[in-house]
Amino acid sequence: EADITLLEAQEADPDAVIYLPALPVVAIVGRPNVGKSALVNRILGRREAVVEDVPGVTRDRVTYQAEWGGRPFSIVDTGGWEPDAKGIDAAVAAQAEVAIDLCDAVMFVVDSRVGATATDEQVVKMLRKTNKPVFLVANKVDDVRQEAEAASLWSLGLGEPYPVSALHGRGVADLLDLILSKLPAESAVAKRQVGGPRRVAILGRPNVGKSSLLNKAAGEERVVVNDLAGTTRDPVDEQVELGGKVWTFVDTAGIRRRVHMAQGADFYASLRTSTALEKAEVAVVLLDVSQPISEQDVRIIDLVLESGRALVLAFNKWDLLDDERRRYLEREIEQDLAHVAWAPRVNISATTGRHLEKLVPALEKALESWDTRIPTGKFNAFLAELTQAHPHPVRGGKQPRILFGTQAASRPPTFVLFTTGFLDPGYRRYVQRRLREIYGFEGSPIVLNMRVRE
Ligand code: GDP
Ligand code: GDP
Repeated sequence: EADITLLEAQEADPDAVIYLPALPVVAIVGRPNVGKSALVNRILGRREAVVEDVPGVTRDRVTYQAEWGGRPFSIVDTGGWEPDAKGIDAAVAAQAEVAIDLCDAVMFVVDSRVGATATDEQVVKMLRKTNKPVFLVANKVDDVRQEAEAASLWSLGLGEPYPVSALHGRGVADLLDLILSKLPAESAVAKRQVGGPRRVAILGRPNVGKSSLLNKAAGEERVVVNDLAGTTRDPVDEQVELGGKVWTFVDTAGIRRRVHMAQGADFYASLRTSTALEKAEVAVVLLDVSQPISEQDVRIIDLVLESGRALVLAFNKWDLLDDERRRYLEREIEQDLAHVAWAPRVNISATTGRHLEKLVPALEKALESWDTRIPTGKFNAFLAELTQAHPHPVRGGKQPRILFGTQAASRPPTFVLFTTGFLDPGYRRYVQRRLREIYGFEGSPIVLNMRVRE
């Protein structure tokens, strides 16, 4: 229903910028082993939410939906990897820095049995710079005798320490009451914008050329933010004019402020990727053609697919490509990127500016596909033709039939098929393939859901 009112609002004024509320975000920050995962689990009230911590292993999922006293909010767990003792100060400080950008309030967790360490002091320095609410959580206060140790954390200068036991639940309810009382009803950072300039996330692993691309695009054709009064709400985004049109590049602060660490870089890259995708409508994933396509490249692309955003692939550093590398690249694309063969590809050089202008039509095409709505009548004519040409194979004496279908949503196009039985995965892929053959959907993922009618 929300979608319909939104559509109406947009029809009334196609240029209107509409902000949809998003849940307020609480970030959890702290050294390894202070009990961050335990606390997340306690708040979510379910064990399986956070996978067991394996040292050094990264968790891709970092945002969780939580609820307290009937109020929903999001938790961002920034502690998904374990730095070694050497790099720990820089790593934990970087974690705090990222968290501050991405949240409405911070829970800073300290192990009250250990007390404040030098690393904790580093985090405090970061946290003092923000005017967002910061809650100093003194964890592992399993009983009243340990409260005195928690009190010693006043010395950190972050105000009152809140004693809790993530393991036993002690004090967690009071802490949540307090946090919720200080949280805005709507997030100031995660607001979802509809209308206005279209929102683009520039993604890619470290050193593929994201900041070079941003500088080239913004440096030459930057628009003064004030020219578009009211359209820039988020200071971490940037508005850039490309191809005669204004675009919002989301989370450019994250691209410009590079977190340089040997360790944990992957984790922060995925954290940035996930949060940028939340805000974006279309993602440009940069690949470095001078390097083999890596698992990390594919993982970033898969995050885009999961997010349901439109996708453009930009093969960067084209100026470094020689004939030999080019042959390998073509093979790699066939092998590793076959599942996104529908994404428009542009071959660019961020430093020389080569073919940057080709980005715009690719973005426009991808967004157009993403926005597409196929009327129900047309879609059913398509289904009738498809099933006639190639009926579902008989399975165990039965032949599942598609009774009816409809496009339930756009952005991305999402179809529901009402069937008399489960369709084979192969048959579903066939429907998807035909959809692309007939309608294109270049640059957009498409979602196909089934409802089985008994
Ligand atoms: P993280 O690295 O900060 O996510 O820490 P974990 O949640 O993995 O916890 C580290 C260790 O501290 C685990 O062995 C937990 O069982 C333990 N722990 C966490 N919270 C508490 C607590 O409230 N009391 C006690 N006694 N131990 C805790
Ligand atoms: P980021 O980490 O993704 O933001 O990557 P940067 O924009 O910082 O680029 C990393 C390095 O690659 C820098 O030394 C850039 O000068 C270089 N670079 C970026 N784009 C190109 C390109 O198109 N061609 C060449 N030759 N170098 C590039």
